[in-house]
Amino acid sequence: MSDKYSIGNRDVLLVVDIQNDFCPGGSLAVPRGDEVVPLINSLAAKFAHVLLTQDWHPRGHLSFASSHSGKKPYQTIEVAYGTQVLWPDHCLQGTTGAAFHGDLQIPHAELVLRKGYHREIDSYSAFYENDRKTRTGLAGYLGERGFRRVFLAGLAFDFCVRYSAEDAQREGFEAIVIDEACRGIDVNDSEATTRKLFKTLGVRCISANSIEGPPLTT
Ligand SMILES: [Zn+2]
Repeated sequence: MSDKYSIGNRDVLLVVDIQNDFCPGGSLAVPRGDEVVPLINSLAAKFAHVLLTQDWHPRGHLSFASSHSGKKPYQTIEVAYGTQVLWPDHCLQGTTGAAFHGDLQIPHAELVLRKGYHREIDSYSAFYENDRKTRTGLAGYLGERGFRRVFLAGLAFDFCVRYSAEDAQREGFEAIVIDEACRGIDVNDSEATTRKLFKTLGVRCISANSIEGPPLTT
């Protein structure tokens, strides 16, 4: 029998990057990424406190393959802070691709946290940019508001959800990933790596059904 989670005032749902470019038809589509939208809507209804993240890049961003001559998407390069995977151009500030999926309905979301707006640094995590030093301010925000548990859902499981969950745990929050409310990209075995890492760090992956409240829409 699995644990049940009853959601209270010190719990927050972090909805990661449910944006058009990460859904089928978008420039960096996560396979079946749009499938999580109805589930996330109904999960969000169980939380008093919901935050959304939004990948938000300027033109010529360092994470774009098009910014490096001769490079193709999914190749890697070495940058000042280590290895960076190159992606197709995506989530350009102010574009339809960067907008939230049209079916995402979370009017009570309290914060939209944008990330990836520094041209020279990518940002998978909602807490730290990829140099692992530049903070987004989210840890301070969660701390000031007295949140303890961070539930995570969204795209992609093995990148932005993964790094956000790891950092939440490292920052002293309890990170809990809602498995069916995420979809992965799986580049170079990244899904398996993510699951192993979650075990090591004590990040729990739970079923959406273990969250108490009205029945979920899937
Ligand atoms: Zn990005």
